[in-house]
Amino acid sequence: MTGMTVEILCVGTELLMGQVLNTNAQFLARQLASLGITAHHQTVVGDNPDRLAEAYRLALSRADVVITSGGLGPTVDDITKAQAARVLGKELVQLPEAEEMVREAFRAMNRPMSANNLRQARFVPGTRVIPNHHGTAPGAIVPAGEGRFIVHLPGPPRELEPMFTESIRPWLASMADRVLVSRYIRIFGMGESAVDERLRDLELGGNPTLSPYCSTGEVMLRLTASAESEAAARPLLEPVEREIRRRLGDVIYDIRDDDGGSLAASAIAALKARGATVCTAESLTGGLIAATLVNVPGASDAVRGGFVTYQTETKTILLGVPADLIERCDVVSAEVAYAMAAGARERLGADYALSATGLAGPGGGTPERPVGTVFVGIAGPKGVRTVELHLTGDRERIRTLTVKHAIAQLLRETRETEE
Ligand code: ATP
Repeated sequence: MTGMTVEILCVGTELLMGQVLNTNAQFLARQLASLGITAHHQTVVGDNPDRLAEAYRLALSRADVVITSGGLGPTVDDITKAQAARVLGKELVQLPEAEEMVREAFRAMNRPMSANNLRQARFVPGTRVIPNHHGTAPGAIVPAGEGRFIVHLPGPPRELEPMFTESIRPWLASMADRVLVSRYIRIFGMGESAVDERLRDLELGGNPTLSPYCSTGEVMLRLTASAESEAAARPLLEPVEREIRRRLGDVIYDIRDDDGGSLAASAIAALKARGATVCTAESLTGGLIAATLVNVPGASDAVRGGFVTYQTETKTILLGVPADLIERCDVVSAEVAYAMAAGARERLGADYALSATGLAGPGGGTPERPVGTVFVGIAGPKGVRTVELHLTGDRERIRTLTVKHAIAQLLRETRETEE
């Protein structure tokens, strides 16, 4: 289908009231963007039949496919399916293949099924029923006339996401006449405007397109080519990717085909590649560096553990940082970051140790050491280094940036040792 448009329609009063964050809309929108499918509108509507019917009419007047989330459970009177049927002038009937899916879901969970649950098997005739391997409500692709469709998915993200990925994404891709292939380029250590300045002429549209995305301290670039096949799209990406690498150099820490990369994932991969381990000694981050590393699946081969040494005395008790050194240099100092990293590395016998001491605020700043002064230490086979940072923002941002800077140092150190 040329120029197919899709609209996302999320159903649930809890979304309107702000009790639940609409992560389904974000997930679906990102999926559509990665497929190169245009989505001009998103709607949230409460569990109200008339307003939902109105939302369907409007969505069907301007989109080829309307994807709904939520309101498939037996308790809400099938509102999402019932109002779709009403707008299409159809009746919901019990579909045998859907009934079998619901019965199978209850058998798999070893739970008794009430008659009410069979309502989840009611659909408009001609519907393609979509299996739900993580819940009881099947989804559906409902023909809506004139080549249009309504897609129903359940509300819980752990059900919606795999159903979309397994069934709806391939179906949408089969209807689109072009493929989009992307490369995701991750940057740490250069701000958005500096990146933009160096790449501006490459961002001017055309094919491939280059779009920057920013998060705290990081920039991610999405380079996307559109072509009739993946084999035709790749050669469009390669020269532009090479040029970006040439212009940005080593602030690029990861390039891959999906947007799942992170500093921590790259650092863990670099450690594992050389069979090395890391440990942490944290003050202002209170364990966040370790938690961020451990968040990466498979981190157990590389992360030995860590120390949370928040109070000054704890740095002496747990890490052996001399009390007179702290007294002389201040607890927020390069010397203390150095001693924390060296102490942790020695105590846990890791190849690398990361430390962080600093002022996250809001209080505690002095003219010599204002809030945002942070020292990161990195101990490794080649010795100990420290980095002084002057970060800005609130407490949360300062802590988040400290974690990223520390992990970026680890990544740099492991890659340098590798070379
Ligand atoms: P079930 O069969 O589990 O009742 P359902 O399709 O009826 O599924 P809802 O009752 O609408 O789904 O929502 C169930 C839960 O799913 C909500 O309480 C909420 O936690 C989550 N949820 C619903 N919609 C969204 C959304 N758009 N984004 C994120 N979470 C959502």
